[in-house]
Amino acid sequence: MMRSLPGSVLCIAALLASVCCERQGPRLYKETRAALYTVVSVTVSADNEASGQSALNAAFGEMERIAGLLNFYSDASEISRVNRQAGISPVAVSPETLEIIRKALTVAALTEGAFDVTVGPVVKLWDFKNAVIPDRPALIKALSTVGYRKILLDEAQGTVYLTQKGMQIDLGGILKGYAADRAVEVLRKNGISSGIVAVGGEVKAFGRRPGGEYWNVGIKNPRQKGPDDEILATVRLSEQAISTSGDYEKFFNKNGILYHHILDPRTGFPSPGCRSVTIVTRESALADALATGIFVLGPQRGLAVLEENDFDGVIVDEHGSIHVTAALKDSVRFQVGPN
Ligand code: ADP
Ligand code: MG
Repeated sequence: MMRSLPGSVLCIAALLASVCCERQGPRLYKETRAALYTVVSVTVSADNEASGQSALNAAFGEMERIAGLLNFYSDASEISRVNRQAGISPVAVSPETLEIIRKALTVAALTEGAFDVTVGPVVKLWDFKNAVIPDRPALIKALSTVGYRKILLDEAQGTVYLTQKGMQIDLGGILKGYAADRAVEVLRKNGISSGIVAVGGEVKAFGRRPGGEYWNVGIKNPRQKGPDDEILATVRLSEQAISTSGDYEKFFNKNGILYHHILDPRTGFPSPGCRSVTIVTRESALADALATGIFVLGPQRGLAVLEENDFDGVIVDEHGSIHVTAALKDSVRFQVGPN
């Protein structure tokens, strides 16, 4: 399906969960905190405030713990230890670190290396706050360390080894989704059977709303003309996660060119071709990583990879046309009509 959209630039941004409270039976309890360098909100359906609140606290606690293990920008994190030992030795890590790297490698293979967590040294060269484009020699040097096949996971030993000096893993393209998965797991362990977790643009729903309806999540167009959020489409989620990667999340403009944070691991430059990619699938970590990887693959190859592997998504290409995988068409409703 293809539709043209109005406006010069169209993107899909953070997802808005619609939440309200029913009068009878279980009620929804919601809390929003700053975590993982973004806004995190957790909503649960619970019979009383005490059980709702303790589940919310447990979910946030788990996300903080995961962030502590995997934060690329903290010297104390497990992932930084792995990075410091690149080319030197394998590092023993916790099961969660092994698991997220295993998932990252799965998506790397699925996306033909378009999603590659070894882009770390390249990511560090880009400064989106100060509009700095890396210089060629530095970029070439950083690119020489990139390559997910140079990560050695030893599941039996519980170690990770980056086999080349200078390599660095950055889990920024999968971490928020993984955190949402972990939060939902903790909520379920705390007796919650329905809720929705949003880690920035990574949203995961489980169970049904207290009235029995599905959770609906809006995909918004962040470059709307007016000051208010403009919803591009609404997606009905049943035990699913939704993730959007867009060229509007972290970017700067220089000489009329838009530079954004989704980098092509082959060139080290922002990937052209897509404005945003939304993925809907059961696991939030997969949705997150796939959104980034499919973005880099571009609309044609990206759509083909999604269809071939039975993943669902919505791609907005650089011209503003929307591509939707076949199976998703029933659960997505577009608010912006074709023009
Ligand atoms: P956001 O963090 O805004 O939700 P994404 O999920 O698309 O966006 O992840 C982008 C982040 O992933 C970047 O900030 C960077 O840390 C990392 N990254 C950038 N390009 C790639 C890539 N090709 N493969 C893996 N990770 C990437
Ligand atoms: Mg991502």
